[in-house]
Amino acid sequence: MLTIRNLSKTYANGVHALNDVTLDIPRGMFGLLGPNGAGKSSLMRTLATLQEADSGTATLEGADGASIDVLRDKDAVRRQLGYLPQDFGVYPKVSAEDLLEHFAVLKGLTVRKQRREVVDGLLKQVNLWDARKRKLGTYSGGMRQRFGIAQALLGNPRLVIVDEPTAGLDPEERNRFLNLLAEIGENVAVILSTHIVEDVTDLCPTMAIMNKGQVLLTGKPNEAIAALNNQVWRKQVSKATLPDYESRHTVLSTRLVAGYPVIHVFSSDLPEEGFVQVDPDLEDVYFQRLRLQAKPAMQAQA
Ligand code: ADP
Repeated sequence: MLTIRNLSKTYANGVHALNDVTLDIPRGMFGLLGPNGAGKSSLMRTLATLQEADSGTATLEGADGASIDVLRDKDAVRRQLGYLPQDFGVYPKVSAEDLLEHFAVLKGLTVRKQRREVVDGLLKQVNLWDARKRKLGTYSGGMRQRFGIAQALLGNPRLVIVDEPTAGLDPEERNRFLNLLAEIGENVAVILSTHIVEDVTDLCPTMAIMNKGQVLLTGKPNEAIAALNNQVWRKQVSKATLPDYESRHTVLSTRLVAGYPVIHVFSSDLPEEGFVQVDPDLEDVYFQRLRLQAKPAMQAQA
């Protein structure tokens, strides 16, 4: 659906935000996971035709089967694109209904009756129908993000890009928002960029992990998790001994459980007495890839 090949971008300040990024993004939800500064927004903005890459290609399969050169044929991409940027701002004094109507006009929905149907349908779809007359300034974070999805879905896009949409949402709003994303049509590719591992675990059949401008892994979450079977070990330790464990083992993550650090260690054998083997999860995959990039010597161990 969307084919990205060898995309690179260096900003004027010398930061290599994208370093030879190659990805195949199919229909459905695609999770792009990476820490802050990984290059996710740079990639999203490039695909959304808002900034230029230095080299590489991106090709979108159009509705008619024709392929669109994303980096060159920007107007054609924009007709197929819905975008919810990281810093989506709304006019606080305008109602959701009026602003969506305004965006619809900008999208080219010039026939009034048809536009009304689309706007009403979207407000219902994102569950804001009852709040449609309220000023956007009175909306909660979750409601604003759902409004953001409504505007992104105007014009029936085939490619929907949402950049860090769940940051700052409480668990209930986050769930509601993710469920809404999951319901977007079958013939649409939705790229969800996030630094929250659960966002990807919960709803993305395919994913990529990115850091420092590079793609560290791409594929199906369950396959990446299965590849770590029998290699993740857990132990509760004391705060005082934690640095010692970190120097002797490949510690993937440290979590406080009832006030004590519980570590996950990556190792093909029992690391030492007191560790128990655990079923790996996507968080283990994520941290293992990030560690591997930071310390390539780990590869020998893997
Ligand atoms: P993410 O979305 O994963 O947090 P970004 O794409 O925003 O990552 O940033 C990747 C890197 O590029 C970071 O080091 C960031 O500071 C840098 N960066 C992003 N935008 C610009 C810009 N316009 N000019 C210079 N550096 C930038």
